[in-house]
Amino acid sequence: MIQDTKKTPITVARGDGIGPEIMDATLKILEAAGAQLDIEEIEIGEAVYKSGVANGIADSSWDSLNRTKIFLKAPITTPQGGGFKSLNVTIRKQCSLYANVRPCVAYAPYVKTHHPKMNLVIVRENEEDLYGGIEYRQSQDVMASLKIISRPGCERISRYAFEYARANGRKKVTCMSKDNIMKISDGLFHKVFDEIGAEYPDIEQDHMIIDIGTAKVAAHPEMFDVIVTGNLYGDIISDVAAEVTGSVGLGGSANIGSDFAMFEAVHGSAPDIAGQGIANPSGLLLGAVQMLVHIGQGEVAAKIHNAWLKTIEDGIHTGDIYREDQSAEKVGTNGMCEAIIERLGQTPTTLAVIDYSSVPSGGLKLPPLKPRVEVPKERVGVDIGINWNGSADDLAEKINECINDNLKLHMISNRGTKVWPDGKEGTFCADNWRMRFMSDNGEHIKTSQVLSLMNRMNEAHLNFTKSVMLHNYDGVPGFTVAQGE
Ligand code: NAD
Repeated sequence: MIQDTKKTPITVARGDGIGPEIMDATLKILEAAGAQLDIEEIEIGEAVYKSGVANGIADSSWDSLNRTKIFLKAPITTPQGGGFKSLNVTIRKQCSLYANVRPCVAYAPYVKTHHPKMNLVIVRENEEDLYGGIEYRQSQDVMASLKIISRPGCERISRYAFEYARANGRKKVTCMSKDNIMKISDGLFHKVFDEIGAEYPDIEQDHMIIDIGTAKVAAHPEMFDVIVTGNLYGDIISDVAAEVTGSVGLGGSANIGSDFAMFEAVHGSAPDIAGQGIANPSGLLLGAVQMLVHIGQGEVAAKIHNAWLKTIEDGIHTGDIYREDQSAEKVGTNGMCEAIIERLGQTPTTLAVIDYSSVPSGGLKLPPLKPRVEVPKERVGVDIGINWNGSADDLAEKINECINDNLKLHMISNRGTKVWPDGKEGTFCADNWRMRFMSDNGEHIKTSQVLSLMNRMNEAHLNFTKSVMLHNYDGVPGFTVAQGE
């Protein structure tokens, strides 16, 4: 095959439900606008899942993705039931797509919204947090999910948010976390945001606790410009923000990594309206616009975006945004597609005209991560988990019989709350307990001390489930105290 070197190779998947209809419309518009693309198609989604591929994408499809590294993806239907893995999470993780970028814009008065001035972008960390899928059944009654937050992960996402703001003429970046509760993991996210932010004095920056931040996005979204946040918070807040703009059918989304990038609509495969030709193609089209900007075809991207804005302004609306008093014509997917193509070359008259000329060609290039600075680390204790159905006092008595080697039982907690010593009567206890052992003479703890303690606990028929070593880093505890400790 002779490849046209002017064209950028991309991989396209038509997906499920309304996916094929909206992808068809999107590709027609891209072609009519003069996008220079060499398209390879792959199959993903329901049919692939049902053929026995647990993550919905066959190995052979990876050949195309590994070659093009750019993926325009229609929504898919995730089959119900166990045994299936999320295709989106698989692709995000395997391609290291660390940033999910979702612009959420109001198009008032043309699309009904309570917040006509809303124009914000959510930059969501896409790889870490509770989405690592590291979960345990710690006992019969207690389940746990591990939240993983790394310094490089925080640095990359904060840096991306600031670079995005600079490249797109945005003035402010707001970090959202829950560091008042998760002082170590979310504390790092906030701290690294401040460190990286110091390199961007031209951009206003602040931090909000995620709960009040989400409330403000719902009630006063015009306060925000760029929001950077963790994976779970970002997942929730970006749906809140998309809904507040007026329709989930309007949102596009980019998933960005250092080598790969994936572009899609915010919404799902909408099986309730599939095959009827009435779906709004705008979300996927705006995802494709983000793709064109990313691959250095910003001029074509702006041409499509402005034609789309003009179509919205002219009141050519699909059913999800149609309003008798405001819209001029109710159209289906094809009608919307044709209206946009007719307006290529035009710009909106009241909505802001889009210009991507300041965005660097080929996507944002981040500088390398800051060099790692080694910090002194001392082992000062160990937490050991135990399954136990008795009282805290009985457990402490049994444990104290196992202790020697300068380790002392410092406290016992249940579901994060201290229950020994001096537990509060009435604290509900489940069947999994955490015991904290610390050195009783200020000396550091050796692995052999921990192993011999566990050995004695084993001989005493104590059913331990996990152990976590406790360290100080540069003299600062790398662990939290229990509630009430
Ligand atoms: P959905 O986003 O598909 O639909 C929610 C509602 O919005 C429906 O009433 C639907 O008709 C409407 N809607 C969505 N997109 C629209 C559009 N372009 N035009 C007009 N109306 C639109 O969410 P759901 O019903 O919860 O999920 C359906 C399927 O999609 C599920 O299998 C889910 O797992 C999957 N899903 C896939 C992705 C993805 O592939 N990225 C994302 C979310 C959900």
